[in-house]
Amino acid sequence: MICTFPSLPEGNPNRKMAISKDPVLAQRLRTDVYDLCLPDGRMVGSAGHAVARKYLKRRLAEIGCAPYAGDSFELPYAVGGMDFTNLIGVIPGSDRASPPLLVGAHYDSIIDAPCADDNGAAVAICLAVAAAAKASGGLSRDLIVAIFDAEEPPYFYGQAMGSTRFYEDQLDARGVHFALIYDLVGHDLSIPMQWLPLAGGIGALAGKDFALPVLKSGVFMTGAESCPELAGMVDAAGIPAGIKLVATLNEYVGDISDHGVFRKNGVPYLFLSCGRWAHYHMPTDTPDRLNYQKMARIMRLSCNILWQAADEPLAAESNDDHTLEYEIHSFKKFAGPLFPILKKRAGISEMNTRSEMSAMVNALLMAGL
Ligand SMILES: [Zn+2]
Repeated sequence: MICTFPSLPEGNPNRKMAISKDPVLAQRLRTDVYDLCLPDGRMVGSAGHAVARKYLKRRLAEIGCAPYAGDSFELPYAVGGMDFTNLIGVIPGSDRASPPLLVGAHYDSIIDAPCADDNGAAVAICLAVAAAAKASGGLSRDLIVAIFDAEEPPYFYGQAMGSTRFYEDQLDARGVHFALIYDLVGHDLSIPMQWLPLAGGIGALAGKDFALPVLKSGVFMTGAESCPELAGMVDAAGIPAGIKLVATLNEYVGDISDHGVFRKNGVPYLFLSCGRWAHYHMPTDTPDRLNYQKMARIMRLSCNILWQAADEPLAAESNDDHTLEYEIHSFKKFAGPLFPILKKRAGISEMNTRSEMSAMVNALLMAGL
């Protein structure tokens, strides 16, 4: 069932967006995660990797993507005697000459296990975004749907990393206008075990039952600093109800996924992640533990951002501190009633400066997020 969403008044008046309603969307995301994230996993070179490739090829075709290059979604490459395959489709836009948008995530797994949050959830969201772009008749420019190989160690940051090989060897001369990359986007944020001593320190208010509902809808976003227009663009695009977006600098966490190659090459980008959790890189990262409703909201947020980015002139520029106010605002909204507690944890009385923001982020990272 498809319904067309009206443009937000402050948003892009040209955007015509056809997205399934949330329950339908969540069911589609669930089906893709369950079908992709099988018990054998998707480690490079394994039988499960080949099964996943076949599934993704079929889904890209079903959705109505065209191959990005040549006549196949499969763009193979070899490094050090090993064979790898990026799966790259495109939803053609009205202006095919302009630099395309890109939505991307890796499909390989770290171990022989489902690895649903890492990174089946993100792949399912990429497919859903592609389906919405197709149902909307395309955007004002091409949308590349990039399902990358070999993000996980030992390939991470090496020559075989799929996103690196795509950018350096497979990308055509149009380049990329804006890239939206995901990793670990299927789960609720939870209070890490390391925070429990904090709960003891501030009494009943920080009991874990209280904290969980406040934080679970959080989604971290890095990359707004890659381009001066991005923070305003995300706000104008509209953040769906039920999602709390936490903007933060990429340098706080580093290039922890496939967005790194875009950042290094000066492409405006955003990276979305719900951070690490107890099941990170564990056999227990299974499809039944994901929040498909939250994923549907992240997918809707992605469409808002991409449709807005399609018509936005974006000039890449790295200037960290133009986003400080934006980061502080988004963090306060995210933390809500927990803000005083988190400030105490970070050892700050206010959060107005870069060094105070850094103290807060460091406290969260130390806690295992
Ligand atoms: Zn991983």
